[in-house]
Amino acid sequence: MQRYSAFSLFSEALRGHTGWERAWRSPEPGGFYDIIIVGAGGHGLATAYYLAKNHAARSIAVLEKGWLGGGNTGRNTTIIRSNYLQDDSAAIYEKARSLYESLSQELNLNLMFSPRGVMMLAQTHHEARGYIRIANANQYQGIETEYIPPSRVKELCPIISIDGPRYPILGALWQPRGGTARHDAVAWGYARACCSLGVDIIENCEVTGINRDAGGVTGVTTTKGDIGCKKLGIVVAGHSGKLASMAGFRLPIESVALQALVSEPVKPCLDVVVMANTVHGYISQSDKGELVIGGGADGYNNYTQRGSFLHIEETVRALVETFPIISRLRMLRQWGGIVDMTGDRSPILSKTPVPGIFVNCGWGTGGFKSIPGSGWAMAELITLGEPGHLAAPFGLERFREGRFIDESVAAGVAH
Ligand SMILES: Cc1cc2nc3c(=O)[nH]c(=O)nc-3n(C[C@H](O)[C@H](O)[C@H](O)COP(=O)(O)OP(=O)(O)OC[C@H]3O[C@@H](n4cnc5c(N)ncnc54)[C@H](O)[C@@H]3O)c2cc1C
Repeated sequence: MQRYSAFSLFSEALRGHTGWERAWRSPEPGGFYDIIIVGAGGHGLATAYYLAKNHAARSIAVLEKGWLGGGNTGRNTTIIRSNYLQDDSAAIYEKARSLYESLSQELNLNLMFSPRGVMMLAQTHHEARGYIRIANANQYQGIETEYIPPSRVKELCPIISIDGPRYPILGALWQPRGGTARHDAVAWGYARACCSLGVDIIENCEVTGINRDAGGVTGVTTTKGDIGCKKLGIVVAGHSGKLASMAGFRLPIESVALQALVSEPVKPCLDVVVMANTVHGYISQSDKGELVIGGGADGYNNYTQRGSFLHIEETVRALVETFPIISRLRMLRQWGGIVDMTGDRSPILSKTPVPGIFVNCGWGTGGFKSIPGSGWAMAELITLGEPGHLAAPFGLERFREGRFIDESVAAGVAH
């Protein structure tokens, strides 16, 4: 695969940019692979990449029903942080965040990782207590966060109104090395790197059935024909329940739409990420100048991958209280994605009742930030057949055992 560099840019400029290769191949499916991953979102592509890179797996296909990165990976508000409460969550999210730090260099594509800092506002005393507790837990976990007073919030984010009409700012949980990255680029970067390691990424190839015999999985039926495999990874976020039912088991997952919107572009006015969980909204400014705004998930299960006026109104009304400056902005576009929610708001990385089938889902409203760590842990699980230390706490058996990893405060509103 062609490397991107200052030299290649310069030499291509001299010959009118006629020599660039396709960023990734577009092969027809082979008849059999050692490992098939269903879903070319960030998690599926990262899984395939680390399978090839860390475990030298060479016969891998990633099957995608649409275009790669066209699911939640290309629809999220790109917040990256690792300030979770429980040790198990902190470990996998911090692994992901730390991989993000050098991922552009590793994948040879600018992912625009921007560790500009993330603050989660405390707007009730209950919330303040919750965030102080997380800040304390993070100190033990070796994750750099602190609980900051309102004066520091104002210093970091001058456009904020500290004395909101309903919910004044009492403080915030601040993670200085949290931030954002370009979501499409994360998918594209992993796709290019997968390709250079020989992975077949097959787009427009929907899995419509999962084939098994007494010994376990034998392959999949797709819109491009049957494909055999020894191992199968289901990594399809909001569609996990559908794939599990094809394989003959059920998952403790609910699928709901989560929405976001962006404003028209404006001059730089916000250089941190702010999440306001009490009023349900979060906001950052993209490099293009748009304010990227997200809200809560729909209150009912559904598969509608689009936005609705109700959510825009709710979210914008809430944010205008805290950021009166945005009240005159015009909205540019809105959209929705289908997220996969577990009862404890923690993911599932697990073996399944069918030998050879592994599942990675349940990242819900906050799985963009975890893509590198999740792919790393899932690759280990598929290779060894048993979870490594990062994935071990997130097995399906925790629901049977009642051993929940409760992240309802840290995962709170959304991310
Ligand atoms: C509006 C919104 C805002 C968000 N904001 C953030 C945020 O700020 N920070 C954060 O960390 N997270 C955020 N998230 C969550 C995050 O986007 C997801 O957790 C993450 O992208 C999930 O990635 P994935 O690879 O598992 O799923 P996806 O990217 O959805 O990929 C799954 C893929 O599987 C494919 N697929 C499904 N069924 C089949 C089939 N039968 N055959 C073949 N392919 C199939 C789909 O087409 C899709 O491309 C947000 C989500 C939304 C919707």
